[in-house]
This record gives sequence, C-alpha cells and structure tokens, in this order.
Amino acid sequence: MENSVSEIAALWDRILVKIKAKMDDQLVYDTFFEGSYIDSIQDNKMIVVPNSQLAVTILSTKYKDLIDSVVREATESNFEIRFVDKDSIKKQVEIKPVKQPFFADSVINPQYTFKNFVVGPSNREAYQAALMISQNPGKLFNPLLIYGGSGLGKTHLLHAIGNAVKEKYPGIRVLYVHAQQFLNEFIKYVNGQNEGTNLVDWFKDSVDVLLVDDVQFLAGKIRTEETFFSIYNNLQTAGKQVVLTSDVNPAQVDGLEERLRSRFVSGLPLLISPIEKETCESILRLKIEANGLDVNDFDPEVIAYFAETFGKNVRVLEGAFERLLFYTVNIHKTKHVDLPTAMDSVSSLAEAQDAKTQLSEEKIISAVADYYSLAPYQLTGKIRTSQIAMARHIAMYLIRTLLDVPFTKIGQTFGGKDHATVMNGVQKVENSIKTDKDLAKAVGELQARLKV
Ligand code: ADP
Ligand code: MG
Repeated sequence: MENSVSEIAALWDRILVKIKAKMDDQLVYDTFFEGSYIDSIQDNKMIVVPNSQLAVTILSTKYKDLIDSVVREATESNFEIRFVDKDSIKKQVEIKPVKQPFFADSVINPQYTFKNFVVGPSNREAYQAALMISQNPGKLFNPLLIYGGSGLGKTHLLHAIGNAVKEKYPGIRVLYVHAQQFLNEFIKYVNGQNEGTNLVDWFKDSVDVLLVDDVQFLAGKIRTEETFFSIYNNLQTAGKQVVLTSDVNPAQVDGLEERLRSRFVSGLPLLISPIEKETCESILRLKIEANGLDVNDFDPEVIAYFAETFGKNVRVLEGAFERLLFYTVNIHKTKHVDLPTAMDSVSSLAEAQDAKTQLSEEKIISAVADYYSLAPYQLTGKIRTSQIAMARHIAMYLIRTLLDVPFTKIGQTFGGKDHATVMNGVQKVENSIKTDKDLAKAVGELQARLKV
C-alpha cells in the first residue's frame, strides 16, 4: 500500500497524541517524543526517527512496549518498528551500492553447484578441471574451454565455478557473462550509453575471474571480437582466470576470428560428450530427491525409459521429468509411478523426440549430399570416388557426433559397412579438421545448417 507523506505524518501525530495521554510525566514525553517522525513505512516495517541518539535508545528500550501497543491500536496492524538516528538514515541513503557500469544484471546462479552436478565418464574431465580451477583460479589451465552439445551441463559447470570461487575466495570478483549479453553490452557501449567508462579498462580493473558462456555467438561479429580479444589478453597477462564454453569445438566455428580461435583452445579444451544412460539415471534420481520425493516410488523401468528417451539433452530430460511430476500430481494422481503412467505423461514429447532422431539421420545425409551436389543414395551406396568417399565420411562423422549413433548402426545405414570402417572414417574427419581449414569450414557450415 502506498502511503502519502502527509498521511504518514498524520498517522504519527495521532500516535503521539495517544502516547502523550498515556504518559504520567509530560516532561519525559516532551524530552524524548517531541519532534520524532516516521521516516518510512514499507510492508510491515516502520522506521521512526526520534529527536536524538539518546532518544533512539530510550524509545527502543524503555518505551518500546508502549509504542508497539499504541501503534497496533492506531493502525490495527502489527508493525515492526525500528528506531533510527537521523544521521544514520542519511548515511544509509548515501551508501546505496554504486551501480556497476557494465553487466549490472549479471548474476551467478546459486542453484548450479558442483555438489548437484552428477559426474560420469562423459563429463568427468570437464568437471575435474572446473573444480580444480575454482580452487586455484588463474594458476592452472588458462583459459579452460568446455565444449559440447546443448544441454550437457556446460552452463551448470560455469556457474558452479563461480559459486565455488566466491565461497573460497570472497574477495575475488567473478563475472559470468553470456556471449549474447556481451554483444548487447558492447552495442550499448559503442552507442555511448556508459558515461565514459572504457569497457576494456573496466574489465581490467574490475574482474578477476571471467566466465563466458557460449562463445560461438561471437563468431562473425568482427568489432565485438576485437574488443573481446583485448579484454581477454589483458586478463590473461594479469594471470586472471578465464573460463569459456562453446556448443561446438571452436575449431569448427565458422567466422570466428583466427586469433580468438587459437586463444580459445590454447589452454585446456575439454569436450563433454553426450551423457551416458547410467549418468542420466543418476541425474534423475537426484532430481527426484531434490523434489522431496522417494526414488522407491518410481519403478526402475520409469527411470530407464526417461534416460533412454530424453537423455541426449539433460535440459529436455528435466523438462520431461517435470511433466511427469505434474501429471502424477494433478492429472493421474498416483504415489507409485509405473511405466505406463510415465509413458502416458510424456507420450507426445517422446514421439517428437523419436521423429527428431529418425529425421536427423536422413536429414544429415541429405544435407551433406546437398552440400557436395550429390544424391543421398550416392552417399549411402557403394560407389567410391574420392569426392564421394569424403562426403560419406563427413556424413558418418556428423551422425556420430550430433546423434551419438553407434558405429555399427551407422554402418548399416551406409550399405552394411562394418564397425571398423565407420570408425576409421569418423576418425579421419576428426583428425583432418584440425589441419584442413576447408574441411573444418564445410563441417562447420553443415552443422550450422542442421541446427536450423
Ligand atoms: P548446456 O549449457 O551444456 O546447454 P546446461 O548447463 O544449461 O547445459 O544444463 C541443462 C540442464 O541440465 C541444467 O538444468 C543443468 O543443471 C542440468 N544438468 C546438465 N548436466 C548435469 C549433470 N551432470 N548433473 C546434474 N544436472 C545436470
Ligand atoms: Mg549453456
């Protein structure tokens, strides 16, 4: 409720009249109550300013009960009254934190910690490096780069580093920035909206640990990349920790400035692979417990089914699980969750997920064929020219990395090739990408097309 200044003043006058009436000694009243006023009312908090420092002490001890009861009577509500000296009110106003000129809204999410990150073979190295860095920022691998597909826990680890650093070294200034946020801030900055503070200098003076999420967003934004490069170099020279994430290996990000690309991978680049089923199951069990539920109320097949169907992306897995909870609490009310109930709760999601997978293998083959002006059947057929063989390997590589299909199954799609042949093909592409720029560019472009 908004209270106007005059309403508040009138209220306090009424209160004073009542207090005065209840006091035996008018001199005491005059001495300690005269000239007091309400500074502000917010929710149930009332701040009262007495006429001196000593009056603050007297009113808040000896007369507290009297004042409380009169206020309750006059307002018919329970205010929590604080007596504050006039000077300290002024000070409180003055020491309002100065708004930082850049990334004022940036926060580290306290929900993402190392403790609630489930570790398995696919993410172990990334987890280990992140943990070590949070204990020794700037001293080990710089920059640490974590890359891997969507929903595999990169952002989670970045925030976990931030939270752990802040806990262990409260004085260290940690900044989390999403690359998109960096672009926006940069645009505001070049448009002169930051009252003269230099962005590059600001980073140098104000940030000790810089966490940048999804750096692939910087690609193709030449001026932003240049500025980011200067910021990065300054921090690096000063021995400050930088941690980056990317949803693809920077070697394959199209349009990323060469010197940034080489900086990004110059420390420790680590891949998070698609999370294996057992780890997904552990994540689900953790989620169940975090929701205050009992794992035993879920049939093991339910957990296995969810991990299998949605585990390619933990974000999707979490979404599906939340849907299941909603369903069992609101629609099909049940305490014990069995497989048919679980499948019902997410049937449309699961179909979409299946369709995506089926579509994607075909989609990859047709995208690669298209890129090399071939027909899809030429890719999956037996004819071998060097051009076709290379396109075929790229398609296998993309199917493997984007969909995590087993080699044997890829072999079947490509006209019955064996496990070793497919693996060789995939490895050939993996290795050549590092040195062959044209190949890296082709793969990068294909990945970009397939994401649409
Ligand atoms: P990315 O940044 O790689 O796209 P996120 O870090 O945003 O993925 O993860 C998506 C969701 O999955 C988040 O809610 C995150 O907490 C959760 N998640 C991912 N990996 C794990 C893990 N290993 N253990 C627990 N939760 C995880
Ligand atoms: Mg992310």
